[in-house]
Amino acid sequence: MSTAVDTEHFKQRLLDERARVQEALDYLHEENPGSMEDETQEIPSDNHPADYASITVDREIDYTLEENSEQVLSSIDGALGRIDDGTYGHCVNCGHAIAQDRLAAIPWATHCIECKRLEERG
Ligand SMILES: [Zn+2]
Repeated sequence: MSTAVDTEHFKQRLLDERARVQEALDYLHEENPGSMEDETQEIPSDNHPADYASITVDREIDYTLEENSEQVLSSIDGALGRIDDGTYGHCVNCGHAIAQDRLAAIPWATHCIECKRLEERG
């Protein structure tokens, strides 16, 4: 029982998130100009609050910027690789286990909170 991390759970989340980011990127690349004319605000009750609950995460993630999306994509790929390696859930810098609540918020986190803070301090 050395691994407390449920990698299957996180793998599924990573794959879901990857699909979502890829979709956002595809949309950014399309750049359909001026097609909003016919589409009024009369959108039927088509929102899924449950979906949004799962992506209310830190400011570390900002889907609005394409380069960020691409960065998230590569981070997700990295995390999926670490699941295969068996190193997932451990800080790539110091090797310590990354806190569960941090992983829950950012499944592709590469650094424990201590190293992340040091990094942000620059
Ligand atoms: Zn660390």
